Amino acid sequence: MPIKNRFAELLPEITEWRHDFHRHPELMYEVHRTAGIVAEKLREFGCDEVVEGVGQTGVVGVIKGRENGSGKVIALRADMDALPIHEQTGVGYASETPGAMHACGHDGHTSMLLGAAKYLSETRNFDGTVVLLFQPAEEGGAGGKAMVDDGVMDRFDVDEVYGMHNGPGIPIGHFVTRAGPLQASSDEFDIIVTGLGGHAAEPHKAVDTTLVASQIVVSLHNIVARNVDPLNRVVLTVGTFETDSNATNIIAHTAKLTGTVRCLDPEERDQMQGRITRVAEGIAAAFGATVEVVWHPGYPVTVNDATAVEHAVEAARAVGLEVDGDTRPIMPSEDFSYMLEARPGAYVFIGNGDTAMCHHPKYNFDDEAIPYGCSFFAEIVERRMPVAK
Ligand SMILES: [Zn+2]
Ligand SMILES: [Zn+2]
Repeated sequence: MPIKNRFAELLPEITEWRHDFHRHPELMYEVHRTAGIVAEKLREFGCDEVVEGVGQTGVVGVIKGRENGSGKVIALRADMDALPIHEQTGVGYASETPGAMHACGHDGHTSMLLGAAKYLSETRNFDGTVVLLFQPAEEGGAGGKAMVDDGVMDRFDVDEVYGMHNGPGIPIGHFVTRAGPLQASSDEFDIIVTGLGGHAAEPHKAVDTTLVASQIVVSLHNIVARNVDPLNRVVLTVGTFETDSNATNIIAHTAKLTGTVRCLDPEERDQMQGRITRVAEGIAAAFGATVEVVWHPGYPVTVNDATAVEHAVEAARAVGLEVDGDTRPIMPSEDFSYMLEARPGAYVFIGNGDTAMCHHPKYNFDDEAIPYGCSFFAEIVERRMPVAK
């Protein structure tokens, strides 16, 4: 198996780091312990520069190659945060913090990038510079955006960026990605409808907010069916519907709908707020009600650069991964998108085997994936910035 032999030797050590992170999960931007250990290890490995507090609690490590004739800079990214879930795996190194757990495998991502950092600091077998990005708050806090907004790409002159996530259901040793959109954008909306409350037996004296809001829900689904290009996948879901009536004989005065919109096409995404607002306002006006639409923009579409994907696929094959370079996109979102908006690059998945899905209390990262993930990170660096023979 052509994984880099050094990672077979380092596996027990990297696994120990992973289990330690797993025992001590931290949420959102509060990844102080994790970030502290990451920074300490990067210094111990001999990184040329270690910067803490980027994007609040993010950590950046810089490793210079044996040569720097290329002037090229490649960034590799891992996420460090856990989820507010109570762990049910029963493993010996389970979370020691009730109500928090590494249920998305970010403990594995951080450990694999640290493993690659240790190897790259030892070997320096590349012509250029590697920038390691350890970000906080991937799970809904836009930590990737915080690091980009903090100027990480310009400050370290990054040319290309690569990120990796584990994939439950994908066999160990397999590698999956695609050029173009890989994961959907995720925006949320609130629609507050105000009619005129009244007696259930006298609807003609009221404006029935429940009925108006119901018409809005039905009409919103026509947007995906009739306005969206059929080749551009969009999901619109109304997740909650609440009114201020709590009795059978009261017509509600106000109703609140909340929902999410997922898109795989950035241009289609840009039009969704206007479409939803127009439908909600039009329906409300038709029935004599008023409406307020509040838009909460979330993570953008994860768009992989086609050339970067080719490089990633070549690197994955070279370290013995079984590659699917044209997988189907998926609708969950990912905040690596902000880094891909800032620089060309690729997001990839490596197999986590037959485990529970991410965000499940029985999910666990599979340590057998570690040598593959580390080898991929190291190989992409050595391949994109080869030392002249
Ligand atoms: Zn997650
Ligand atoms: Zn994740």
